[in-house]
Amino acid sequence: MSDCIFCKIVDGSIPSTKIYEDENVYAFMDVAPLTKGHTLLVPKQHVKDLFEMPEDVARNLYAAAPKIANAIRSAFNPQGMNTVNNNGSFAGQTVFHYHLHFIPRYDETDGLKIKWDTKQSEFTNDVLQTVAEQIRANLN
Ligand code: AMP
Ligand code: ZN
Repeated sequence: MSDCIFCKIVDGSIPSTKIYEDENVYAFMDVAPLTKGHTLLVPKQHVKDLFEMPEDVARNLYAAAPKIANAIRSAFNPQGMNTVNNNGSFAGQTVFHYHLHFIPRYDETDGLKIKWDTKQSEFTNDVLQTVAEQIRANLN
């Protein structure tokens, strides 16, 4: 896609710091990393987000994910790693070519704060059954 920054990275028309590529995927350093080793993995095919991702693109993308995660872990020995994918502006997506963030985690001050305000008391078993049925009805 001609005006997509990650398509331009994949085709080499704008620079990136490459980690890995194969026939289907390209991995490179995030230019504004949260932590040391913050890497992005993208499909070479332009896909806007997870909602629009064909199964074969998903298969090929995730097939490469453990290789990237293990290389980062071997390089820097983080205490953990978050993989994050934002879909849609409301969810924080700013580049509309699917990308999976690999964010190695070092300590409490590394800059990534993930807080889950769970609402378990609202989601009784009855509610969960209804919600699950609504989702199942939309699988295709
Ligand atoms: P998101 O908010 O999930 O869409 O993440 C987009 C990410 O792309 C951000 O973390 C940016 O720092 C990163 N980014 C944007 N432009 C570039 C670029 N030219 N090279 C590397 N990373 C980039
Ligand atoms: Zn693209």
